[in-house]
This record gives sequence, C-alpha cells and structure tokens, in this order.
Amino acid sequence: MPGRVWFVGAGPGDPDLITVKGRDLLARAGAILYAGSLVDRAATRFAPPGCAIRDSKDMTLEEMTAWLLEQCGRHATVVRLQTGDPGLYGALTEMTRPLTAAGVAWQVVPGVSSAMAAAAAAAETLTLPEVTQTVILTRVAGRTPMPPGEDLESLAAHKTTLCIFLSITLLHEVQKALRAAGWDENAPILVVQKASWPGAEKIIRGTLADIKKKCQAEKVGSQAMIIASPTLGAADWPDLARSKLYDPTFTHRFRKATANG
Ligand code: SAH
Repeated sequence: MPGRVWFVGAGPGDPDLITVKGRDLLARAGAILYAGSLVDRAATRFAPPGCAIRDSKDMTLEEMTAWLLEQCGRHATVVRLQTGDPGLYGALTEMTRPLTAAGVAWQVVPGVSSAMAAAAAAAETLTLPEVTQTVILTRVAGRTPMPPGEDLESLAAHKTTLCIFLSITLLHEVQKALRAAGWDENAPILVVQKASWPGAEKIIRGTLADIKKKCQAEKVGSQAMIIASPTLGAADWPDLARSKLYDPTFTHRFRKATANG
C-alpha cells in the first residue's frame, strides 16, 4: 500500500484551532474521512482541489476501514479527521488495528481537546496553586459502562478539577455523584456547549444546585463539556496563592529572586 493514514485532531470546532501540522496534512491529502457528527465540514477547507472528502457520520467501522484502505491504494496521504484530540473518546484503536492488520502505516497528530477549549471559552484555569493541581478527564456511564473504580462519585471525592465528557444528557447523574462525594450545593459548575464553534458557543455558569435548570432553560442538551472545579471563578477571588514560577522571592533555573520572602 503506498498510502499512510493520519489520524488528525481537528480541534474542538473552530477550524483555526487545528495544529499547523494537521493543516499541512489536509493541504496535501488525497482523501479525507471526517467525523461529521462533531467536526464541521469547514474543517476540510484546507483540502486541495480534487481531494476525496467523505463524512463518516453514517458509516460503520467496517465501512470506514474499507474506505480508508481503498484510498490508501490511490493516495500517499489519507487523513482521518477527528474531533478534539483523537486519543480521547475517539475509537482510535478500533480504527488502527484493521489498518495494521492490512499492512497500512498510520500516525496520530494531536488536537486541542474540547476540555481545553471549554476552559478557554470561559477564561477559566483548570489548575491553581494550593487549590488543585490535578485534572480528571472522565464521563458518566451511558451505553458505555464505566470500568470498576471509575464511577464519578469516587473520582469526585478527590475534589480536583473534573472535565466531564459525553454526559450533558445525564446531568442529574453528575449532580447525584458530586453530592454523594460531598460537594457543596453552591460549588460552581461550568457547562460550555459547542466551545469555539464560530457563532454557536454557549457558556452556562451555575452551581451544583441550579446547573441543570440553567442548561434546560438555555436548551443545552448536546455537544457540551461539564467542568466542575474548585478553581472556577478564581479571576474574581480576593486572595490567591501565587505560583512560585513568577514569585519575586523564588529562585529557579531561569531567574534569581529579586525580593526577600
Ligand atoms: N476527542 C474529543 C471528545 C470526543 S467525545 C475531544 O478531545 O474533545 C464527544 C464529547 O466531547 C461531547 O459529548 C462533548 O462532551 C465533548 N465535546 C466535543 N466537542 C465539544 C465542543 N466544541 N464543546 C463542548 N464539548 C465538546
């Protein structure tokens, strides 16, 4: 097979949020298979004239594999364009195994995940010194069950930042788990729908108590990231522990302290 398949992260929605490497691959692609349920066709705007472009929305894994293999027989560069980062809830391994079995080379190009895009849209940080230094990327069980030990209640017990994918229709489950883990009713919760999509982004700020009502009122029922974090709203806090990196009393590899602590 002359062709190689590149699994490229398209980013969260805004076509400008693809990496330069991903864009360059699109620009020389002979064929592009894009995940149309979450990736806007606009993401393929960097494709050259004559490029075969196919939406995978209505295809099975077998049909996608067959299409990719067929295109690899014709083109040197074949792109599978995925939403956000291909390594997060992207069925990557399912798609790469049949390619390996068929002797086709493949590589992955990372993308900006919707977790990062949602935080950026709301101008929030996911980590803060002395507040939380840990981010958990997770979901609640839908038709895909959660492996043992990964139920949201157990993860939420750490009181770290939680970026919850694929769960907006199960917001009541999220509330139940956070309550069971001891989160306060006033704990801030952020929901961002279609983060970074030009003209379509919605930012809902609420609390554990009212976030579901607010999302219902705003008709946010799909393509949304839920972020529960003790860092939310920090831009308006009166007191903040400073990061050592920029502290004038702190010496590190690139800078000597300019003040005494
Ligand atoms: N690989 C993707 C995630 C795919 S799973 C990534 O790294 O972002 C699909 C889920 O991702 C959706 O249910 C939603 O929770 C989230 N998602 C994807 N795009 C989004 C966006 N633009 N805004 C908010 N959430 C998004």
